[in-house]
Amino acid sequence: MGSTGSVGTQTLDIVRAFPDRFKVVGLCNGYNTPLFKKQIDEFRPEYFNTLGDVASGYGGAKSVPVEEIVTLPEVDLVVAATVGCVGMPPAMAALKAGKTLGLANKEVIVMSGQLLIEAAEMGGATILPIDSEPSAIWQCLEGEKSDPSRLIITASGGAFRDRTWASLDGVTPEQALKHPTWTMGEKITIDSATLMNKAFEVIESRWLFDIPFEQIDVTIHRQSIVHSMVEFADGTLKAQLGPTSMLQPIQHALFYPERQANDNLPRLDAVTMGSLTFEAMDQSLYPCFELALEYGKKGGTYPAVLAGADEAAVQLFLDGKVKFTQIPDLVAETLIAHKQMTSPSVADTIEAARWATETTLTHHNLSTILS
Ligand code: MG
Repeated sequence: MGSTGSVGTQTLDIVRAFPDRFKVVGLCNGYNTPLFKKQIDEFRPEYFNTLGDVASGYGGAKSVPVEEIVTLPEVDLVVAATVGCVGMPPAMAALKAGKTLGLANKEVIVMSGQLLIEAAEMGGATILPIDSEPSAIWQCLEGEKSDPSRLIITASGGAFRDRTWASLDGVTPEQALKHPTWTMGEKITIDSATLMNKAFEVIESRWLFDIPFEQIDVTIHRQSIVHSMVEFADGTLKAQLGPTSMLQPIQHALFYPERQANDNLPRLDAVTMGSLTFEAMDQSLYPCFELALEYGKKGGTYPAVLAGADEAAVQLFLDGKVKFTQIPDLVAETLIAHKQMTSPSVADTIEAARWATETTLTHHNLSTILS
């Protein structure tokens, strides 16, 4: 799911390198039709789903609903490389059907970690993180019998890491899209610049590793080489290091629990990697981070509203309709206007996210009219 995006194309890069190990049953994407057609031509799936313009039967593949594809009996592994709240219903369907879910689309687990974990338990399914920080934590925990005492998530600090929030009023989408260490899709790169992405990773890790928020820390690590760390009761810290590339976490999820040689993966040399630095993160400098954690901890429908509102706010910024520094204000306005449900269903959660996206867009339009 999300085959033409950043993680989607890199997932297919891994698949391409191991033609004997994978068969692509289905591909799903958004609007990048030229690339999607190329992928169908190359990987010959039996099924596809697209928001773009591809006729059923193209390349011998049938167009069917996403939820139908991810629950097919011949499907073992589903990679959720979609962006935003749209990924939740098919991810839930895959888990309920007992499929292994490689999860890169973190909004899916932010919206309701509890419901996602429950769906996995019900279906006897496994969630494998593809996001590099949760993947690092997962790799540090492999083989351990004891629970960790602390997770330390590393953060590059994003495009504006050396600037104060107050100085970011006039930054353009082009400036915000220049990430210092990672090349990623637009939504996640803006979320990295606001540090919303890092709060999402804290929420994601709270659910994936079943650990209280109070035992998760964030540390600024500019080089993005240590992808995260885990502390144990005896004071031992384990860190996972790797190149600043999504290929490794993707391949780890695809082959888990095997490790496979792949000449296409970048390597990291200890001698040339240089100095690694770690700095305390002053949370008060990042309004999106504080806001997201506050409402992430409240739970219920709030995290879904957070994800839905952020999606709209980031889109408004990318479209040049609001300032960068208005992103947390817009998200906060929507969160405050929301009436929380404490034990929402899946349908309630999806509706809350949809309401939040629409409300955020409406608030923006109202304030435009008023000004
Ligand atoms: Mg990440």
